[in-house]
Amino acid sequence: MTVTASIPVVAGSPLAAARRQLSDAATYLELDQGLYDMLSRPRREMTVSVPLRRDDGTITIHTGFRVQHNLSRGPAKGGIRFRPSVDIDEVRALAMWMTWKCALVDLPYGGAKGGVAIDPRLHSRAELERVTRRYASELGEFIGPDRDIPAPDVGTDAQTMAWIMDTVSTGRGVTLPASVTGKPLGLGGSLGRADSTSLGLTIVALEALSSHGLLPYRPTAAVQGFGKVGAGAARLLADAGVRVVAVSDEYGAVYAAGGLDIRALEEHVRLTGTVTGFGGGEPLTGAALLELRVDVLAPCAIEGVLHAGNARRVQARIVVEGANGPTTPEADAILRARDVLVVPDILANAGGVIVSYFEWAQANQAYRWTSAEVEERLRERMTESWRQVHAASLRTGRSLRETATAIAVERVAEAHRLRGLYP
Ligand code: GLU
Repeated sequence: MTVTASIPVVAGSPLAAARRQLSDAATYLELDQGLYDMLSRPRREMTVSVPLRRDDGTITIHTGFRVQHNLSRGPAKGGIRFRPSVDIDEVRALAMWMTWKCALVDLPYGGAKGGVAIDPRLHSRAELERVTRRYASELGEFIGPDRDIPAPDVGTDAQTMAWIMDTVSTGRGVTLPASVTGKPLGLGGSLGRADSTSLGLTIVALEALSSHGLLPYRPTAAVQGFGKVGAGAARLLADAGVRVVAVSDEYGAVYAAGGLDIRALEEHVRLTGTVTGFGGGEPLTGAALLELRVDVLAPCAIEGVLHAGNARRVQARIVVEGANGPTTPEADAILRARDVLVVPDILANAGGVIVSYFEWAQANQAYRWTSAEVEERLRERMTESWRQVHAASLRTGRSLRETATAIAVERVAEAHRLRGLYP
């Protein structure tokens, strides 16, 4: 049986990709059409106008979104991004991916995502605080520890979460540390959260290298994006003995055949704000980085960077998706045909939301775990999820993405069946 999609979307968009992955899984799982229709639409969504008083007294208006895709397994969970191009369809796609990610690694959450169309680099800290607080207060009762728990994403950080927590808490007259995750340590953030996505990615990258028999040969990697996910991934991969030969950011890339000194590069970025101009490597374009002959390519920035136009030139053996949605369905098919193993985002970058869950659990228990406890439990969940997806993929001959999505969709579908349809 094939389910039929009934909602029009822009071809080539992240939402088109997310819906296509869902319809493939629904067809494979033989989901009934009604359940598929429920899963393909967000449960709730909110679009708000966020007026910002600039430091010079003028007012600019930004649009903010929060989409709760699914709540069947628990409260909604997912990051908030500040990026000029954010729109409702992008947030819908990212929210759907959060539902599958949380279900795949078996967290008691649904999926959500939020965004504000703003370029954080063009604003002072005081302006960012005001825009964050206004956005959070516009969302009102939408968010909270048992409703919807935001976290950092592109363009936001621990400080953004602290402002949201304070805004939600002050509005309700109570202190609600479990209302956000990815908070600063001093406010109840979890040890190990800052590097959690990067560590999770490193764990599955090493598993994937080992499944290809490449681990003993000092494998090489290229990392696209040197932000919250990419910088930590480059450092942790290098610490694990992988030669990280290239990294990029939005300004360009650096390359060193023998492997980059990632700590020195991090220091260079701290001082200059970019990887370009780093003395320990040669310059390269960001586009060329994606086409290097490496064992692992880790896109760790944004959606759609591997597409029909460049996928044929990708020479990596393994793609590990640190970003959400970096590979379009067209690129996915091309890479598959060329035998490139793609470790999908909902598995490869799940370390972040896993430690978010640990942070939320610690806040609910009012108890702090040691970093060794956090790391051990993260390793356990990532390794277990990898094994499950990898084994099922070998058994069925379906790709890691198809397999991971089907496992996740089936878990969410099961929750719907168990709860029944109200009324
Ligand atoms: N923004 C991260 C992601 O896309 C983390 C989400 C969270 O921790 O809730 O997975």
